[in-house]
Amino acid sequence: MKSKRWLICLLTGLSVLCLMQCGSPEEPRFSFTDKGRDVPPFSADQAYEYIQKQVEFGPRNPNSEGHRQTKEFLYREMQHHAGERNVYVQSFEHEGYGGEILEMHNIIAAFNLESTDRIVLAAHWDTRPRADEDPNNTDEPILGADDGGSGVGVLLELARILSENPPPLGVDIIFFDGEDYGESGDLQNYFLGARYWGDNQPAPGYNPRFGILLDMVGGTGAVFPREGYSVRFAPSLVDAVWDLAAELGYGEMFPDTEGAMISDDHVIVERTTGIPMINIIHHQRSGDGTAEFPSYWHTHQDNMEIIDKHTLQAVGDLMTELIYNRIQ
Ligand SMILES: [Zn+2]
Repeated sequence: MKSKRWLICLLTGLSVLCLMQCGSPEEPRFSFTDKGRDVPPFSADQAYEYIQKQVEFGPRNPNSEGHRQTKEFLYREMQHHAGERNVYVQSFEHEGYGGEILEMHNIIAAFNLESTDRIVLAAHWDTRPRADEDPNNTDEPILGADDGGSGVGVLLELARILSENPPPLGVDIIFFDGEDYGESGDLQNYFLGARYWGDNQPAPGYNPRFGILLDMVGGTGAVFPREGYSVRFAPSLVDAVWDLAAELGYGEMFPDTEGAMISDDHVIVERTTGIPMINIIHHQRSGDGTAEFPSYWHTHQDNMEIIDKHTLQAVGDLMTELIYNRIQ
């Protein structure tokens, strides 16, 4: 099979997108081998600080002050790591429940643009505007240290590493907005950033090997069973990633067990673009097959107290090992 790949140049200063068609290597998309290379260390301390920084802005639900400040912070931080020309903010509007216009922004950064062999890593940066699962102050927005903050924290630390250690393949990082806006059961108002990105590709023909979504990857006692849609979209990729986690000594955190099927940004990405994206998400599969999330999920207890550097280290080590020593 021969497929086309695209080299994407994001020249954000001029808002120019230029595309160059390139040939494709014929290696399998999900087959990894140990290349015996040194892997730059992932700092859980730094990832933790990046989470703390977000939480200090307060709740990051759309149109809030914390949301506005965090967008500026993420944009600046990614410009610092990826270079100004390699960061693109995709802004869009969405009508909120009160009829108000919500200003939303996906933040996208590209590392090693020269490489035609690319992967995409993603997390949502917004936090929930309500605490549905909390018996108290249900209508108040949550801090989302884990649900939102942790995936972004890990990816910001990865961005720092990528800027200091040129990766052997192209890595694109996307912070999706509006993942957690919807009221319980109203899936049309979830995953807003992923929907917009999927329907309005900044670089048409974008064809990375695969994507990995990080959602709730910093909690104490986290466990990441094999999420159901991920297994459906890319079973061999799930095998490779979970086998690697066990090889790194994180088999208990990444058990070889069937998880629940969880609607999240990765499902939207796969359905709108065909990019196989898997989800690393803290949950357990209950007896009836549905997902059980940790007790702090969608409550005011989702704060820095439940963030554990050991969890961040495991997820970070897995990502750096993949990027620097396994894929290409
Ligand atoms: Zn959530």
